[in-house]
Amino acid sequence: MTKKIYKDNELAGLRTGGIIKQKQKDYFILRTRIPGGHLKADLLKKYSTIAKKYGRDYVHVSTRQGIEIPWIHIKNIPKLLKDLKKLNILKGACGPRSRNLIACPGMSVCRFGFVDTEQLAGKLDSVAFGKEVPKKFKVAITGCLNSCAKPQENDLGFQAQGEPEVDLSKCIGCTLCAKVCEKVCLRGKRKPAIIMDENKRPIYRKKNCFFEGDCIRVCPVNAWKTKMVGFAVYIGGKVGRFPKFGVKIADFVKESQIPKIIRNTIRCYNRIAKKGERFGEALERQDLEKIKEEIL
Ligand code: SF4
Ligand code: SF4
Ligand code: SF4
Repeated sequence: MTKKIYKDNELAGLRTGGIIKQKQKDYFILRTRIPGGHLKADLLKKYSTIAKKYGRDYVHVSTRQGIEIPWIHIKNIPKLLKDLKKLNILKGACGPRSRNLIACPGMSVCRFGFVDTEQLAGKLDSVAFGKEVPKKFKVAITGCLNSCAKPQENDLGFQAQGEPEVDLSKCIGCTLCAKVCEKVCLRGKRKPAIIMDENKRPIYRKKNCFFEGDCIRVCPVNAWKTKMVGFAVYIGGKVGRFPKFGVKIADFVKESQIPKIIRNTIRCYNRIAKKGERFGEALERQDLEKIKEEIL
């Protein structure tokens, strides 16, 4: 039945566009993508229409901020593809190419966020998604050190950072910033980045700072503010059968540098990896300093 509608090479082509063979004969899963996980309520209704019309009235919400619709019969795929286009539903990818770019909710709603991660993810979709690579390539953007989007588990991860600065003329000497900082730094196994002087005024030591902004949030008189926002960059992370954490290669890169870093990293991955190998595995044979130069 399958071969009557699609030849083998055409089936492989479907996979490129996020139509994945299900284990049941003649049935497929539609994988869609939602860059940054930001989905308008109206579009959500359209997913429901597709799931009712072509699937079995349910969807699977994937771990990579996509919606998958299983139980699509092969004979319905041509019509489904036309409907997706009409409804502006974006197809996902599988096989040897880059996946949906994920993001945490970010500063639009989260009090910890330094960056509007969802909006940034939307802007970067065309740079990051669907590129040919040796195995797969995943990018994540997260709005602060809490790392809700898990940048360290992606092939390329961006983690927003905020450097604090204090206006001593506003300080009332309550010591809250030093207390909260001591807690953070203790957990991170560093000496505190804020200590109080003999006049009960905070002294900031940048080298110990984790750039997560607890001091800014805790100050009752807004004496602390964010001086600079940027991104830490992680490369080579993955989960799967043999998980590994990405390594940090930079701090405070600017948002405007991110498209170039994504393009350079994908090019680097294609250059150094064997077919079927993840970026993090290929990196094990490389001089990290040279790779940093290539990517940044
Ligand atoms: S990573 Fe930070 S900004 Fe993003 S959702 Fe988590 S706490 Fe909020
Ligand atoms: S950002 Fe965090 S680690 Fe840095 S000074 Fe403020 S509280 Fe301390
Ligand atoms: S929290 Fe604000 S007011 Fe309190 S010591 Fe720190 S800077 Fe001063």
